[in-house]
Amino acid sequence: MPTIPSPLQEIEHPLFRKHNINVLVKRDDLIHPIISGNKWRKLKANIIEAKKVGNKGVMSFGGAYSNHIHALAYACKQEGLSSKAIIRGEPHYQNNYTLRWAAHWGMELIFVDRNTYRRRQDSDYIDELLKQHPGYHIVPEGGSNTLALVGVGDVMTELNAQADFDAMYLPVGSGGTLAGIIKADNEHHHIHGIAVLKQAEYLTTEIMNLLDNKLFNNWQLHTQYHGGGYAKFDQLSLQTLTEFVRDTRIPFEPVYSGKMLLAFLDRVKQGFIEAGSTTVLLHTGGLQGVGGLLERNRLSDAYITAIQSHLPSAPQVP
Ligand SMILES: *Cc1c(COP(=O)(O)O)cnc(C)c1O
Repeated sequence: MPTIPSPLQEIEHPLFRKHNINVLVKRDDLIHPIISGNKWRKLKANIIEAKKVGNKGVMSFGGAYSNHIHALAYACKQEGLSSKAIIRGEPHYQNNYTLRWAAHWGMELIFVDRNTYRRRQDSDYIDELLKQHPGYHIVPEGGSNTLALVGVGDVMTELNAQADFDAMYLPVGSGGTLAGIIKADNEHHHIHGIAVLKQAEYLTTEIMNLLDNKLFNNWQLHTQYHGGGYAKFDQLSLQTLTEFVRDTRIPFEPVYSGKMLLAFLDRVKQGFIEAGSTTVLLHTGGLQGVGGLLERNRLSDAYITAIQSHLPSAPQVP
């Protein structure tokens, strides 16, 4: 079971000293060596619910390297539930790092083409799936539903007991984590979400929906820091990340927490962070994703060297 509360750690860095700002990192990557970070927080209440209503398993949706699918497979195995996933892409993906693990933990993988995958939120498609897979609790892509907000809110409860701070930054994919943080924070801090996908403006509506359209006036979704799109990053960004990982010994990965970090560094340099203020960066985990990036040769040797010793010692992929 995960170790909570996750540690809150100060980051020493010359740039932060120069601007006279305090920067802390909430290390949700450390809560568990396999299900690191927000995916466990989001799944917790969903798994409790599935068991409570007597479901035999949980079913969800994801891309071929999804942190959510990886976490779901493991969590279900631990809790004695079955798991199934609708995966966007060709069956050959079942040999990749992420899905090999998911299958190892007993998850059934169902591969669909892009057009089918696009229907993942349509109620008629969901009804069809419920009929084909009776006894399964269906969780949306990324695990972002109303139940997920409760578990994510625990991050804020922990933080309030750990430190006084002014602002918080976190990466945003489907928006569930940001919504959970906004709701639990209830307008006490400035919350900045960094969208990791291109053209993510639509997420504002999704986040508002998760919040039952209740207005909170202390948050912002920044959509200009996607760096070219989901899981895209250039050599310069990777070099900046490499240096930061090396200097701080914190494993920021390039898809989520690294993009948030690069956005934050940019905003520090632009003078947006007030001198004397304290900012919390949420490391949302997802370190299994590094396995997939390694497998696809997407990382530089320097980055691999920098991050390797800070990765959790997960067992070898079966
Ligand atoms: C899924 C994920 C996110 C994004 O969370 P959402 O709730 O989908 O916005 C951020 N960081 C990591 C590591 C993730 O796996």
